[in-house]
Amino acid sequence: MMEDIVTVFPAVTILRNEPLAHYTHTKTGGPADFLAFPTNIQETKSLLAYANQEKLPVTVVGNASNLIVRDGGIRGLVMILTKMNHITTDGQTVTAESGAALIEATKVAQAHSLTGFEFAAGIPGSVGGAIFMNAGAYGGEISEVAISAEVLTPEGEIRTLNQKELDFGYRHSSVQDYHDIILTATFALTPGDGKAIQAKMDDLNARRAAKQPLDLPSCGSVFKRPKGHYTGQLIQEAGLQGLKWGGAQVSTKHAGFIVNIDHATATDYLELIHHIQAVILKEDNVQLETEVRIIGEEPTAK
Ligand SMILES: Cc1cc2nc3c(=O)[nH]c(=O)nc-3n(C[C@H](O)[C@H](O)[C@H](O)COP(=O)(O)OP(=O)(O)OC[C@H]3O[C@@H](n4cnc5c(N)ncnc54)[C@H](O)[C@@H]3O)c2cc1C
Repeated sequence: MMEDIVTVFPAVTILRNEPLAHYTHTKTGGPADFLAFPTNIQETKSLLAYANQEKLPVTVVGNASNLIVRDGGIRGLVMILTKMNHITTDGQTVTAESGAALIEATKVAQAHSLTGFEFAAGIPGSVGGAIFMNAGAYGGEISEVAISAEVLTPEGEIRTLNQKELDFGYRHSSVQDYHDIILTATFALTPGDGKAIQAKMDDLNARRAAKQPLDLPSCGSVFKRPKGHYTGQLIQEAGLQGLKWGGAQVSTKHAGFIVNIDHATATDYLELIHHIQAVILKEDNVQLETEVRIIGEEPTAK
């Protein structure tokens, strides 16, 4: 029965048993049974309806920059939305389909001399992933600019959520609780000076490049910032910076990142994460919570 999905949607690219390591920013992760790349809202809606009818579990992925997929992979249907990526502007708002790169949305804002989005100029996620995570950097956060998002509920209904309903918190939005699929998001910005906006974006990107290991695969900050502490500092002070675990390593440039230096597996990443959490709990009595989303199945023992 499941085999049918590829033939039911001839216009959509759907790959069978496709390694997600080809798509994740950590370059790790097991296979998806079916990996689909819808190009518009109607295709996404139809794929969800079909999956519901066939009782296939559905997982949605954006740019896979905040994701660890366990080495056993993901059963059912995975949809990567990055081909659904139109961005439009209307006066002081930017509306983007959820698969659009957040970085592209900030470029569109700059091109229209709209300010307020500069903080996101270097966040390598999609618009959907940024809403889901309430992504933020350099004192700015998606919650400050997002005014609404159009979502597809698990039952297949399209709804528009306003800012209040999105219930943003630190790296949290209501989408995490209700398993909606974000289709579009609208951001309200302010008229500004195009050159000044570009200069700010360039400055933030230079600061990012100076501090972060952007030349190596990673998922950004692995852990949320615990109250009253800096994660990187805790990890450094515990002597864990530079620690290698299989092909993964606590970045020597930024202790809050774990980089893939030598064909790491998701298991290497997860074991290293657990080790760091155990050491920091023992030494500092601080429970580090992961910011990175961990999904998929454990590998089966061989
Ligand atoms: C080098 C580097 C630097 C980074 N810097 C920052 C930073 O400064 N600030 C910051 O906040 N983050 C940062 N990140 C993390 C990441 O870019 C953000 O969390 C981003 O918002 C994730 O978007 P994504 O599209 O990659 O999401 P994914 O990794 O694809 O998915 C993350 C979660 O969102 C869900 N999701 C994605 N799209 C949708 C959708 N359309 N509908 C419903 N659910 C969806 C997924 O199911 C998953 O649970 C960084 C990552 C890297 C690799």
